[in-house]
Amino acid sequence: MTELNKSKSTVKNTLKSSWLTFFYVGIKDDVFSEDTRRVFIINLFTSVGVIFTLPLSLLSLYQGKLTLGLSLFSIAVLYALNHVYLRRTHNHSLSGNFVIYPLYILMIYLVYSGGVNGTGHVWIYCVPAVALFLHGMNKGLIELSFFTLALIIVMYFFGGHFEELGYHEALKSRIIFSFIVVVFLSGIYEYSISRFNFELKETTNKLKLVANTDVLTELLNRRGMLQRLEASSQKSFHLLLADVDFFKRINDEYGHDAGDYALTELSQIFRVSLPENDSAARWGGEEFLIALCNKTESEAFMFAEALRQRVEAFEFVYLDHRFKLTLSFGVATMNATTTLREAITLADNRLYQAKRSGRNQTRRA
Ligand code: GH3
Ligand code: MG
Ligand code: MG
Repeated sequence: MTELNKSKSTVKNTLKSSWLTFFYVGIKDDVFSEDTRRVFIINLFTSVGVIFTLPLSLLSLYQGKLTLGLSLFSIAVLYALNHVYLRRTHNHSLSGNFVIYPLYILMIYLVYSGGVNGTGHVWIYCVPAVALFLHGMNKGLIELSFFTLALIIVMYFFGGHFEELGYHEALKSRIIFSFIVVVFLSGIYEYSISRFNFELKETTNKLKLVANTDVLTELLNRRGMLQRLEASSQKSFHLLLADVDFFKRINDEYGHDAGDYALTELSQIFRVSLPENDSAARWGGEEFLIALCNKTESEAFMFAEALRQRVEAFEFVYLDHRFKLTLSFGVATMNATTTLREAITLADNRLYQAKRSGRNQTRRA
């Protein structure tokens, strides 16, 4: 790629990302959530709203239609302010209401007044999509039923001046029927998109769980543990790295399945011994990492020792084999002066020392 092309593509990417930032502003959680989609639609709709209503309002004011012009102008200002509000507060639910309720009122007013030369009704077809997008199927459909009712009332009971606007009988019924058809089609679309999004979210969550869980022990795997520790709001925690002593012998003497069984039992011991909110992971083959928060360094050491003794005392029974296992521990602390990676390396070094000093023991600083 030449330098010129490179800089063109950088400019293109920057433009693309700033557009996306503009439309996604106000989003705080994952990309598959309905909220994310709603924020995007609010931003998109308010932008389109400002782009269309502002020139139309100025045109109406220029043509001397003061009420219509001012109504459209107020909507343009409201939508522009709404974007700023969403950007500041992330309150998409209230922001969505700022979009949809003025829109209902404006549309009813346009139909009633006829807008510019009796064309007011042509804008009502944008209402179903926006209502369903913003308020979902249930609330959206209820509101659209009321809106349709309001349309009927305005057209058939307040339409004394409609003849001069060109709203003859056939047009009135066609406007209502075609509006209902658009509601129906938008409903189908919204339903299929929500369903698709729901399935996608479920599948993503399942995949995330599978990607972060160890198949054999159902503890977190290394990747899951790292993610949890990196995402943790805790400023300090103690890492207990445990390795089964002479585990190879279990496999050699009783078979690989017995080894698998022992790892599963060990995980169960960890699980029941752990305080709530603390996590254990299968760090590698027969290595486990436990992260403890809300404990002092010596409490963490004592916890490792208690766990080591518990495992030492436990009798593993697999088919007609009975055997015992021991663990070696390396303990280290992650805090303001020691990063997570450094603490893991320290725990690993201390585990190595425990092994070298004869196994079945816990080493700390
Ligand atoms: P040390 O005390 O030095 O840790 O000795 P060790 O025998 O535990 O260590 P070594 O690293 O020599 O052997 C680890 C063994 O763990 C070898 C490997 O086959 C076994 N292992 C690793 N993962 C699994 C597993 O998922 N299932 C079974 N059954 N064995 C496993
Ligand atoms: Mg080992
Ligand atoms: Mg090992």
